[in-house]
Amino acid sequence: MAATISRRAPRDAETVNGIRIVLDPAKTATYPRLHSWYMNIDKVPHEEAISDLIRAEEGVYTWEMVNLNVPEKPEKRIAVCHFCGESFVLQGDERSCKSCAERSKSDIEIGSAGIR
Ligand SMILES: [Zn+2]
Repeated sequence: MAATISRRAPRDAETVNGIRIVLDPAKTATYPRLHSWYMNIDKVPHEEAISDLIRAEEGVYTWEMVNLNVPEKPEKRIAVCHFCGESFVLQGDERSCKSCAERSKSDIEIGSAGIR
């Protein structure tokens, strides 16, 4: 189990420094209840595992500095639905909001089911 965190990347940065933090099983072994819960060795109440985790402070983590690629953030485009007039976030070049698209799809399914 690990988490990687960083500060917000400066505008136009391709990489940013971050830190990868791991809940280290070699270190949780010092705390049998936490270790049993973490490694799913035994049923340990969540509260007991968490209290060990809090007591251990930073003693159960391993971390390393990492260089992260900053993902490109697509530009958010807003459109107005041609059916209901509400604004929505464009995913492609659709003309209706998700709700109206699903409604018209189910109308088509109901309509075609009614044709004999
Ligand atoms: Zn709509």
